Amino acid sequence: MAQFGNKITQNIAQRLRQVVGQGKDFVPLHTPEFLGREKELVLDAIESGWVSSVGKYVDDFEAGIADVCGVSHGVAVANGTVALQICMLVAGVQPEDEVLIPALTFVATANAVSHIGATPHFVDSAYDTLGLCPIKLAAHLNEIVDVQDGRSINRKTGKTIRAIVPVHVFGCPVDMDGLCDVAQRFNLVIVEDAAESLGSTYKGRACGSLGDIAALSFNGNKIITTGGGGVVVTDNPDWGTRAKHITTTAKTTHRWAFEHDEIAFNFRMPNLNAALGCAQLEQLDARLLQKQALFQAYRAAFFGFDDLTIFEAPANSYSNYWLNCLILSGPLKKQRDTLLDGLNDCGLMCRPVWNLMHGLSMYAECPRADLSVAEDLAQRIINIPSSSYLANASSGLAL
Ligand SMILES: *Cc1c(COP(=O)(O)O)cnc(C)c1O
Repeated sequence: MAQFGNKITQNIAQRLRQVVGQGKDFVPLHTPEFLGREKELVLDAIESGWVSSVGKYVDDFEAGIADVCGVSHGVAVANGTVALQICMLVAGVQPEDEVLIPALTFVATANAVSHIGATPHFVDSAYDTLGLCPIKLAAHLNEIVDVQDGRSINRKTGKTIRAIVPVHVFGCPVDMDGLCDVAQRFNLVIVEDAAESLGSTYKGRACGSLGDIAALSFNGNKIITTGGGGVVVTDNPDWGTRAKHITTTAKTTHRWAFEHDEIAFNFRMPNLNAALGCAQLEQLDARLLQKQALFQAYRAAFFGFDDLTIFEAPANSYSNYWLNCLILSGPLKKQRDTLLDGLNDCGLMCRPVWNLMHGLSMYAECPRADLSVAEDLAQRIINIPSSSYLANASSGLAL
């Protein structure tokens, strides 16, 4: 068995190396890349004296991100987690509400729900997108929900299910048509967790514009970064204005008076970080091409491979392929940890997908649907090195 494990690991490592380049260098999973005007713009922010939450780079970054997402409003904040929290507050999620989120997500999605006092309610994912499955969602809600006065009440807990948070996992858009149908039927606000999907599109429309309001992240590991940061995007002018107000200590505009009209947050993104973001945003289009090329190179390298496929987004969408992943099947499923050890030993940083949310101690008691697909996928996913620059290494793909 060990023999089998070694041979197959070597074969997979070789194919990965064909794509990312030979040699013994350690290849990280994803690194930030600063190849444009980053130093110039950050220096300009410093010299201007506008280093905190007011400044032209904040305005430019907000406008630029809203533009990529095809919406009217962008509000820059400290990180993606608080962006999600603000989305839910603005969308009217109340403490004591339940919010539907996939079990297969990064912990920030669940934490943001908890930060407003609401309870995450975990639902299952789909094999074709790795995101929320509208069919299983509808079946679950039909079983547990009473619709009263236009509100969906969870019959088991008595709580209102107010919102749903589709997460575009690794950049792949969720089946939004199906999801919007269910959301409409059960009167759910749609808050997109678009943290990983800047530049991805579903039927030609950008992630971030597919629900009622959306959160993006610009943490150092995302496709572009502000060091740390997030943006709330929405087409709803009232929600956009309110998002800005409550992330800016609810200060009313006045030349000198300290008037604040509610208890609010200091969640704004500093101009220094926004300057970095503006320089990064100039490179987004090139990076999307590199990500696409890297995905194609991986797909070619593993074409016809038994029991292992490179995950591919459905034909109706365009994924930014923020992270590529292998999906194991058949006998290879049981070899995941051996593979992870072997690939990391070969200097290829690979890792499993997140622990499912209901497997974390603080979320173990939360309400949940049948999660059999998420549980299956969690055993079968291996993320592989996905930095944009790796596209340059694969032959014939120099960009
Ligand atoms: C990165 C990420 C977040 C949170 O963003 P931070 O900026 O790290 O707070 C939320 N959801 C998902 C799916 C993410 O990948």
